[in-house]
Amino acid sequence: MLVHRLLGFGFESNVYLIEDERNAVVDTGTGFYTEQLLNEIGRYVEVKSIDYIILTHEHFDHCGGAADLKNTTGAEICMHEMAARTLEEGEQWSAMFFDAVQKATEVERKLREGDKIILGEAELRILHTPGHSPGSICLYDEKSRTLFSGDVVFAGGGIGRTDFYGGDAEQLVKSIKRLVELNVENLYPGHGDFVMGEGKAHIKMAERMSMYLL
Ligand SMILES: [Zn+2]
Repeated sequence: MLVHRLLGFGFESNVYLIEDERNAVVDTGTGFYTEQLLNEIGRYVEVKSIDYIILTHEHFDHCGGAADLKNTTGAEICMHEMAARTLEEGEQWSAMFFDAVQKATEVERKLREGDKIILGEAELRILHTPGHSPGSICLYDEKSRTLFSGDVVFAGGGIGRTDFYGGDAEQLVKSIKRLVELNVENLYPGHGDFVMGEGKAHIKMAERMSMYLL
């Protein structure tokens, strides 16, 4: 498994391209920069070789680009079942903050706690980790000790906001406690830097930060 971080500037979420026997993209950014994103993807793999677009949650800065990216790549959209409605019904509550429109599109694969997305060497286990949003997930590959943490925890001990629609501080604290139990070397959050080698220490910092929420 090879991971490349794409976009991630300004309001754009980080977009991770995972190269394996099957290729996946984790999050898509707002969609304002889809053309640039496709160019960046094209430096590593054929754009049409993307099999999955996995969305960590239903906020526009992560899934605004999903419909366009799917149309170009033909990839299958995977998202937690509690988040899927935002895409399928084109809910605008999150896009509104960006003065933008969430394009509606089908979520082919609705994820639940414990599901696995098998890419080859990498087997991404789905952890339902609500709190930042109801349909937030993290993706964990046990073999490589890699965690894609969405907006649940960030490098340096940052934690997701809970003041958006559906946010819940108590749930976020519980979700972070689950992540502390994992053996994480590589931590790939939804914004900012990623961490190689000592991911678990950053998650522990986040756990301490989260205590101030309660
Ligand atoms: Zn978010």
